[in-house]
Order: sequence, then structure tokens, then C-alpha cells
Amino acid sequence: MDLFERAQRSIPGGVNSPVRAFGSVGGRPVFIERARGAYVYSRERDYIDLVGSWGPALLGHAHPAVVEAVQKAAAKGLSFGAPTEAEVTLAEMVITRVVPVEKVRFVSTGTEATMTAIRLARGFTGRDLVVKFSGCYHGHEDALLVAAGSGVATFGMTTSAGVPAGAAADTLVLPYNNREAVSDAFAQYGDNIAAVITEAAPANMGVIEPLSGFNAFLQRTCTAAGALLILDEVLTGFRVSESGYWGLEQDDHPYRPDLMTFGKVIGGGMPLAAVGGRADVMDYLAPLGPVYQAGTLSGNPLACAAGIATLELADADVYQQVDRASQAISQGISQALAAAGVAHHIQRAGSLFSVLFAEEEARDYEGVMAQEQFRYPAFFHAFLAQGVYLPPSVFEAYFVSAMHTDEIISRIVDAAAAAASAAAAARDPRQC
Ligand SMILES: *Cc1c(COP(=O)(O)O)cnc(C)c1O
Repeated sequence: MDLFERAQRSIPGGVNSPVRAFGSVGGRPVFIERARGAYVYSRERDYIDLVGSWGPALLGHAHPAVVEAVQKAAAKGLSFGAPTEAEVTLAEMVITRVVPVEKVRFVSTGTEATMTAIRLARGFTGRDLVVKFSGCYHGHEDALLVAAGSGVATFGMTTSAGVPAGAAADTLVLPYNNREAVSDAFAQYGDNIAAVITEAAPANMGVIEPLSGFNAFLQRTCTAAGALLILDEVLTGFRVSESGYWGLEQDDHPYRPDLMTFGKVIGGGMPLAAVGGRADVMDYLAPLGPVYQAGTLSGNPLACAAGIATLELADADVYQQVDRASQAISQGISQALAAAGVAHHIQRAGSLFSVLFAEEEARDYEGVMAQEQFRYPAFFHAFLAQGVYLPPSVFEAYFVSAMHTDEIISRIVDAAAAAASAAAAARDPRQC
């Protein structure tokens, strides 16, 4: 029996996270056996990987120093349910790199981190409302699985069955990059808003660059109203710079989020995430404060070992290499698409990029949805057939690692020509 068929018998859809099922690009998911550097390997062949485990593989897969750190930690025991030095060391590393973070609580997933941040903001402010932006993803907790209804500012509609209307009723959804919508929402509901949560740079609807000063504006608006700004850096943190997307903005538009969330790179491929921020807010967490939060495997010693080893290696050189590779790959893809006559825009935020199949840069979810999505499956499969593994959805960022060398970049750029032709030949199924 084929592995995907076997998987579908025992696992819903055959996968443990929906995008892996290739639902939006069609075809059968590739089952990975192992990974190293810029490559992932199925049983049959190798692929140059531009998914990077959805972000963690900043240094490339299975970096020897990270693997060794995990092996050493494993030999000492897998989990103790008691404090360890590794947690303290990693917390100190985060605090050193990201100035607004004065204290850190480790959890196991990004979902848990944002869920904790929301509860903490509500507990700290004594308010219920949370503002989020349309198209931003913060994990799958009820209060944030909410999309905008019609109109500019709306109380959310749930985007998943099983989320009670009540869980979404306290979430206000606004269009991204829209200061006016934010000001209006605060004018109307400011006294009840506990927090604004935003991706530091949205990268879960494709990549969207925040307009210059937008995050700083959010901070000012929150502070003036007694609300907290939660900057979600689960994806961008330690990926786009040593101090995340926040770090990239501080020269031009300094601001200090009240809370920040981290995941993906911080665990170097192990299940680890964190919420951090102002000490007075963080001390509202149990056991010091009244906001309850806990986790059997939180701060797991193997995960902390992987995180420490990853952050130790993620120096200025690494970020420079990733930036350079990201530029070269996206330019090569863009040139191939232009040569094939495909309308497109490279959406970029730091070293993150995605390909938008539209002429005009997208600034919000509406812009993203207006693209020629139907071109992506052909584009994706043409790359895959040539041994390049792109994110299996047009709404995901491309993740480059420090192991994407010039030779690997050339192979991607060479493959782009056929992928661009396939995208050019794709037809909108709604029009035939
Ligand atoms: C991935 C992601 C999350 C959720 O993290 P999980 O570890 O998948 O639960 C939250 N916020 C952002 C911005 C993310 O990219």
C-alpha cells in the first residue's frame, strides 16, 4: 500500500497539520525520510527545500552542532517536570537579543504562546476585547480563528467549525496596514480593548510588509488607550535578524511591544515557543500572578538545548547569508516569471518573501485574495518535478537557510524557467 493511502487510514487526511496535505496545489504529499542542509529527502529522491520546516531550519536541516546538543541533552534524560539551567540560559539569550523582553515563559507551540499572551493581556488590563488583523495567523486558539465579516471593522466570524460564537465575539478584526481602521476601532471601543495582536510582518497570507511606521503607530495607539501591543514574532523572530522583525524597525521607527511571542527558530526544530515582554505584565502569570498558565513539557530540556545551540550559531554572518540567498532566489524567480509574461510581485519582509500572482504589491488580505491563485499549483508542481520543494500553498512564505549556497541558488533559478512557463500556461478554472 502506498504510504499516503496508509496514512489516510489512520490519520485524518493523512497529515498532522492541514497544509501538508497539498490540498491547495493538488497531487500527493511528499513523505520525508530525512533532511540535511538545504535538502529534504523522500524515499525516492532529494529536494532543495524552501519550506525549512516552516521556519525553524534557519541554519539548514540537522546542523551538526544542534544535533549534537540534542543528543547530549537526551542522554541526560528527556524531561523532568522541574526547572533546568538550560531554560534560564535560553531565557537570558532571548532577553539579551530582544530588548523589550524582560522576562520569558516557555511553552511548546506558537499557538500556546499567543493564547497565553492574549489571556495575560486580558488579565492585566481587566478588559475583554482583542483586535487582530484580517489574514494574520496566530495559531489555532478559538479567539483568534476569526475572519473579518463584511465592512471595514467587524466583530469576527469564526473560521472553523467548533468555535463558539462567544469565543469570537470579543475579537475585532481589522484590515491590515490601515491606520484609519485602527483609530476608528479605538475611538469606538478603546476602553474595552485589552490588546492588539499583530504579526510583526504578516507571513501567513503570503508575505506582507508593514507600511513604514505601522507597528510603531500600533504601539502608540495601544499605549494611549491603556491596551497592550502583542507583537507575534513566532515566524519572524530570530529568522529575519538577531532580534527579529522588531530589530529591523528600531532605527527608523523605534517602539516597544508590551508582549512578544516566539516560536519556530527559537526551538531549532524542536517543539518550543515563548511569550515574553514587560516584567510587570509577565509577573501577572502564575505562580506570581492571577493569570493561570502551565505545561507538562514546557521548557523541555531537549528543545531548550536545540534552541540554545541554534541561537548561538545564528550570528550576523548567518543572517547576511540568508538575506543574500533570499534576494538571489526571489530575483531569479521574478526574472523567469517576467520572461514568461506572468504578472507577479515579489512580496518581501526582511529575508522572507513570497510570490504574488498580481502586478500590484498586496498590502492587506484583500490584495492577497485578488491575485491569480490558479497559477500556483502549476508553478509549484513544475518546481517539484525538478527537485525544488516550495511551500504547498500560495499563501505561505518561502524559507531560505544559511545552507542555500550559490550552487543551490543556481539550481533553483534554473528550475524557475520551466515553472514560470507552467504558471503562464495555467488557466483559471472558473473561466472555462
Ligand atoms: C506558526 C505561527 C503560529 C503558530 O505556531 P504553532 O507552533 O504552529 O502553533 C503563530 N503565529 C505565527 C505568526 C505563526 O507563523
